[in-house]
Amino acid sequence: AVEATHIVKHFGDLAVLHDVSLAVEEGTVTTIIGASGSGKSTLLRCMNLLERPDQGELMIADERIRFDRNPKGDIVGLDRRQIQRLRAKVTMVFQQFNLWPHLTVLGNITEAPMRVKGLSRRDATKAAEHYLARVGMLERADTYPAFLSGGQQQRVAIARALAMEPRVLLFDEPTSALDPERVSEVLAVIRSLADEGRTMLMVTHEMAFAREVSDQIIFLDEGRVGIAGTPTDVFEQTHHERCQRFVSPAA
Ligand code: ATP
Ligand code: MG
Repeated sequence: AVEATHIVKHFGDLAVLHDVSLAVEEGTVTTIIGASGSGKSTLLRCMNLLERPDQGELMIADERIRFDRNPKGDIVGLDRRQIQRLRAKVTMVFQQFNLWPHLTVLGNITEAPMRVKGLSRRDATKAAEHYLARVGMLERADTYPAFLSGGQQQRVAIARALAMEPRVLLFDEPTSALDPERVSEVLAVIRSLADEGRTMLMVTHEMAFAREVSDQIIFLDEGRVGIAGTPTDVFEQTHHERCQRFVSPAA
């Protein structure tokens, strides 16, 4: 469903991703783990073009995009319309929810489908209600985000991502900003999405959860794929020393 090949990304002089390749099969869950600063968020943001790779290739829902520097050092390849179309296929759920404070829960969800996909208000509302029910937040449709707990806001953010009917969902530490007692309600929603066969790529520090829901785990090590494999490969049988230390620091 999504594939990245030989992705290179710098921020000025800082090399963040060196030569990263990964593939997420349709209907599977891949989790990226790794130390702070190893490039997890940057990699995820490259997958929906919130960041533009300097080099490499992305395959997003049957569209292939090549990145290269032209002789002047600019990045060539994509126009704005192409980027918007691709972003609608790979939607992101952020650590900080990023709901629009001036819109109700319902308004947060109908906005992008109306603006980007051209849905009528009526169709967008119908879809929004469906996805709000899916995350258990339909009763709060007319509430403003400020009146919701973090866990409730994150469930709304997930409904907002689903309403774009993406091919792939990206999650960047979706529970890291939550109070501990709110984490499980968000993990339960993500788990149910995995169970229904959604294609997902996520970054999380919830190791037990990652192990339970992931088909594939990727350990990112200073901007390189240290090891990629099944949860058993990565958590139990890895001979990658830094990965071993990361997943079981006490051992
Ligand atoms: P964490 O676990 O703390 O979220 P991460 O693995 O997600 O870390 P990234 O956020 O991808 O790491 O950052 C990788 C490196 O790139 C860091 O050194 C960070 O400071 C740097 N970086 C990230 N975004 C930018 C940016 N927009 N401009 C400059 N440097 C950046
Ligand atoms: Mg990050």
